[in-house]
Amino acid sequence: MAEAMIEVNKLSKLYLSGALFKKSKPAVRALDDVSIRLEKGKILGIVGESGSGKTTLANVILKLTNATSGNVRINGIDIAHADRREMKQLRRSIAVVFQDPMANLNPRFTVAKSIMRPMIVQNVPRQEALRRAEEVMDMVKMDRMYLDSYPKNLSGGQLQRIAIARALVLHPKIMILDEPTSALDISIQAQVLNMLLNIQRQLDLTYVIISHDLNVVRYISDYIAVMYLGRIVEIGDADEVSEHPIHPYTESLLSAVPYPDPKMAKERKRIVLEGDVPSPLHMPSGCAFRTRCKYATEKCAQECPPLVDRGDGHQVACWNK
Ligand code: ADP
Ligand code: MG
Repeated sequence: MAEAMIEVNKLSKLYLSGALFKKSKPAVRALDDVSIRLEKGKILGIVGESGSGKTTLANVILKLTNATSGNVRINGIDIAHADRREMKQLRRSIAVVFQDPMANLNPRFTVAKSIMRPMIVQNVPRQEALRRAEEVMDMVKMDRMYLDSYPKNLSGGQLQRIAIARALVLHPKIMILDEPTSALDISIQAQVLNMLLNIQRQLDLTYVIISHDLNVVRYISDYIAVMYLGRIVEIGDADEVSEHPIHPYTESLLSAVPYPDPKMAKERKRIVLEGDVPSPLHMPSGCAFRTRCKYATEKCAQECPPLVDRGDGHQVACWNK
């Protein structure tokens, strides 16, 4: 078996919510028993509706928040027990790009300053940092003249290219991309995704790319994990999962026809899936998806289905399919 770059093992994350003085605080289980194994140079797409735990998973991998139980290994190192030197190395080897281009960049900094900052912090000499800034601008297909621009003068697509450029400066091995194209027009989305794919191939990077839209990431991913209310309900080879989905939730995500009009695209979820995602504070018993599932039986209310391998690592958590 190829060496794992990212190994997530039985990860759970509870958030205690509100009501500080109540005796029993209700908890949101943002992640529930999530396991993932990703080899070097591969792309994992994580999909699911808003609230399914995708960003929480990214944040735990980035050690921006701690897991309640379970563990994460990056390149063999358990991030919960990494010493200072290992942690420094880990921080350099994992880069992140968020959805909101403006959140990725300081509005008062020029593009050059934003891109050079991670290097200056690491004591890279100015001249060398500037040269590297030019290099990464080339990689994201942005003219070097934009190094002197401010974020407010750039389009969403340009801003996201620059956020990606900045993520690349310290030669990361892993990129966590949390809805990197969701704020962009459909036509720009495809360009940015293709660019990301080219960079990944050139540098043999490992990507975790998060999206609420399966159709956005299926073409660039090697593997797809589908999440629903904190659990992985289906995971496997990207072509296999998107061409032969087994879980009813994956099926409904896929039957969403991509519309070129983003406004229609927003509405199409409601056309396909009946009802809303249940509140994470009042989780249904058994399988969390059963309240919206046309195949649901009594057993689904009683017992949560485990992920079971249906062949070649294609795993599905469903009693009836
Ligand atoms: P996604 O990225 O898939 O939309 P999130 O990981 O952001 O999902 O959220 C998963 C669940 O955890 C949601 O119910 C959300 O409200 C809850 N959650 C996320 N972050 C926090 C937090 N810092 N405090 C409390 N609850 C949170
Ligand atoms: Mg999110």
